[in-house]
Amino acid sequence: MEGFTHRAGYGVWINDVRSEALRIPNWPCMIYDDITDRSLRSLIDTMARAGYNELCLWGLLNSYSWTFDFSRESEPARVSRVRELISYAQGKGIRLIYGLGVYSWGCDEIIRRIPEVRGTNPHALCGSSEESFRQVCRIIDFLFHTLDVDGVHLESADLGRCMCEKCAPIDNFSYHCALNRRVAEYIRKKYPDQIIMVNLINWQPRDDKLTDPDDPRVTALAELSRSVDYIIDPGHLGHYVPMDHVRQIAGRLHCDFGTAGGTRTYFYPEWERLRTFLPFAHHAHTHLSALYQNGGRACEYYTGPLVNPASEFNTAVAGRALSRPWESYRTLAEEALDELYRPRDAAAMTALYELFDGAEDAWFDNWDCRVALSRRPPDNRPTDCFRDFDAYRAKGSDAMEMSLRGVSHLENYMPREHWARYREALSSLLADAGRLMGRTQEDRKIARIIECLRNTVLDLSQLEEYERWK
Ligand SMILES: [Zn+2]
Repeated sequence: MEGFTHRAGYGVWINDVRSEALRIPNWPCMIYDDITDRSLRSLIDTMARAGYNELCLWGLLNSYSWTFDFSRESEPARVSRVRELISYAQGKGIRLIYGLGVYSWGCDEIIRRIPEVRGTNPHALCGSSEESFRQVCRIIDFLFHTLDVDGVHLESADLGRCMCEKCAPIDNFSYHCALNRRVAEYIRKKYPDQIIMVNLINWQPRDDKLTDPDDPRVTALAELSRSVDYIIDPGHLGHYVPMDHVRQIAGRLHCDFGTAGGTRTYFYPEWERLRTFLPFAHHAHTHLSALYQNGGRACEYYTGPLVNPASEFNTAVAGRALSRPWESYRTLAEEALDELYRPRDAAAMTALYELFDGAEDAWFDNWDCRVALSRRPPDNRPTDCFRDFDAYRAKGSDAMEMSLRGVSHLENYMPREHWARYREALSSLLADAGRLMGRTQEDRKIARIIECLRNTVLDLSQLEEYERWK
């Protein structure tokens, strides 16, 4: 039996997985220092052991803006560091996928300098201008001539789109489908060995689902799929293709189809790495098993800073679930715990397993299915993402991204009346974690779990006091 074909880990940006918080809030952060490098190599090591075969990173050379003459991105010191990282990943069997904006993410200076590509959005080229396409090709050529990457993650909609009078009449889905298709065809023809992935982030409002295989949008996606290797429906606020419809929709595509692994966390680079203990591997396993059974064969799995014990565990379990989606959660979780902690006996293994599962339950038992209140257009409105929470839990089929920044996840995703319950559950796990000291070969990591739990308990205590006295 074969597992998922595309078992990609997702960085996302190079400093999101940093082992130490950035001192200055800065997103997305383009610094590539020793900590960035060490953190990424450690991620690659863990991913290789867990069975991933691709790693997608944003920010290796650019974020909002490529310089017009690529002078900054050609800087020998930076290029050589990035080349070494790519070759390190390849040496471990991990192909490097470059996160590349399509008509956006990188185009700010081009837009400022060339009037012909300028539409209504300072971050997105006008999709109706031929000069825009020429500029995109110039970026692609520079990228493939500078770095020996194995593929690209194409993304056109995260920063919105042009709404000039030529672009505006085209609906979002058709617009992004056409931009990605043209760029994918260019890459396929000129660089046929490159893996091409298209990510559907922000293509249309989250409530607008794809359920009918005869929907013209699915037909357009099927045309696009002739030129790409896989399509990812990331589900920041629920998937566009509900799990019950994956088999039919994916069946129309000429490429692999998948998700970003279901519900996940996103660590901002300046956020303290040990401020939460939020395992969600059990949910991810349920989701990935269902995706596989329905014909999904691709995943771009959100990793996180591995110094955080929950991120490390989530990443280690998901890689195994992508390689062997038919195995039980318990089998894969214990395999990951054995590698990461080397428990000294069976009782210690059981205690560890229960600690991670208990922390996952503590969160999901107190979460009320609400998601962050702000997303970029077209999703910038308050939302109850999963109205049927029991169905969500049973199937693990839908997804959301929980941003970790300050205490916003506790305030935005959890009702105030659940804070005390969550705090009490974590306090009890804190005692369990203390009893694990000396029972594995990784006391250092157990100490980190304790610190994570303690920090969350402190955050919750302060939130409760603040609420009482404000
Ligand atoms: Zn336009």
